[in-house]
Formats: sequence, C-alpha cells, structure tokens
Amino acid sequence: MFLVSSREMLHKAQLGGYAVPAFNIHNLETVQVVVETAAEMQSPVILAGTPGTFAYAGTDYLVGICKEAAKRYEMPIALHLDHHESYSDIRQKIEAGIKSAMIDGSHLPFEQNIELVKQVVAFCHRWDCSVEAELGRLGGQEDDLIVDSKDALFTDPDNAIEFIEKTGVDSLAIAIGTAHGMYKEEPCLDFDRLGIIRSKTDVPLVLHGASGVPDQDVRRCIELGITKVNVATELKIAFSDAVKQYFLDNPTANDPRHYIVPGKAAMKQVVIDKIRVCGSEGKL
Ligand SMILES: [Zn+2]
Repeated sequence: MFLVSSREMLHKAQLGGYAVPAFNIHNLETVQVVVETAAEMQSPVILAGTPGTFAYAGTDYLVGICKEAAKRYEMPIALHLDHHESYSDIRQKIEAGIKSAMIDGSHLPFEQNIELVKQVVAFCHRWDCSVEAELGRLGGQEDDLIVDSKDALFTDPDNAIEFIEKTGVDSLAIAIGTAHGMYKEEPCLDFDRLGIIRSKTDVPLVLHGASGVPDQDVRRCIELGITKVNVATELKIAFSDAVKQYFLDNPTANDPRHYIVPGKAAMKQVVIDKIRVCGSEGKL
C-alpha cells in the first residue's frame, strides 16, 4: 500500500455518516501507535504533521516511515500537511510523495486567502493531492501559530460557499467555537452555524481543535456533517504524562525502549477513544 490523498476517505465518511480521525504524529513511535491502532480497529486514518513536525523529523524520514506503515498493515494512509502556510513549502513536500495538504490562509484577508488556496489547489490537483483550507479563525496555539481568543473568528456561511466555489478546495476547516490546545473552560460550539454551512455545500467539513471537546459535542458535530476530526493536544498530554510518571517511578531509567513504552500505551488509549467517537471503526 502507499500514501493516498484524503479525498476518497472523506467522501466515504460523508456518505456513511461518520468522520475520519486525523491524528498529529511526530516521530516513529507516534506513527506506530496510530497506525497499529487504526489497523486493529479497521479504521481509516489521517496522519497529520505541522510544519514544525516536518522540520523536526525530516520530510524524507516521515514519508518513509508512513509508507512502511501503510505497507506493513496493507492499508491506505493519508499523510497530511497540517496548517501549512506557504505554497513553495507545500510544493516541495508534495514532490516528496505526500498527497494530502492543508493550506492555511485563514490569517489573510478573504480575497487573499482565496488567491493563495487557488494557487495551491491548481498545483496539488495535478499531483492527485487533496487540499483542505480554513475559513474563519480558531483561537489557541498549534505549533508556532498562536491566535488570541479576541482574534478568533467564526466562519460565515455565505463566505464559505463563495470560498469553496472560487477555490475548488476539497475540504474546508470551519471555525464554530473550537480552539487549538486544551480549553480553560468548556467550549460553546455553534451547532446552528455548522448546520447552515452543511446545508449549503457538499464539500467535506473539518473540525480542528477537538482535544478537550466533550465526546457528545464531537458526535453532534459529526451528525451535523463534520467528516474529519483533528486530534493533537490530547495525544501529546497522554504520552508525556505517562513518560513523566515512568521517570517518577523509575528515576534511574535511561533506556528509551523502556521509558517510551508507557507513553505509547497511554497515547493508544486516546486513539482508541477518538476512533470510537468518530464512528470510524470497521470502516476501512
Ligand atoms: Zn488545526
């Protein structure tokens, strides 16, 4: 098997009334956990990496690891460029074998966001690569991207339709009250807004910032038409908390083959839970 675009898995999810989980990975171990668990549960899966992750791990290493994972479990995997902001950066990574990209122009004025996304779509579609864009703006922090809550903007339904028509984008991340990182207080999601956007377009819709959103709210979003759910922060917290505890219990430990194991186990439980919330188990 090989790396695929997100297009088919998201359309299948839309028809089936479930969502495909997109898990942020960082290295060999996190790819191992996500792919092994998705294979065991027969769930479609997207492995997402921010620009910071690709810079840290190396694009060639990550592509190589994910291709091997797809081969090992005989399942298609979408390795996805999460929150990439530059056309030339995306272009280089597509040429390295990646087939699923997000171009995040959500910080730009509307018309400039459209122009940037159009340029990326024109290139990516020649390479059979699917493109996700974002309209509206999530608060919080992802990678080096920090958005103050006062600068967060909900997605306007009419703008969303114009944006989709003008850009030809394959999926759209919308802002309905979620934020990146963990929440200080429970988020209040604008389900009506999601319902209105869904009623106006067939393009798959994406929920960012799902870490810490109560399961029933994520399920409601999926019922209302979300077909991709991004999870990053909850995985990192589970992994690092378990490793920290291991060192507290074993202060002289120094073998990564030992101290990483509880981190992987804790992360695996989050992956299992999110696949269940997405309803994607058995949908491979
Ligand atoms: Zn995001």
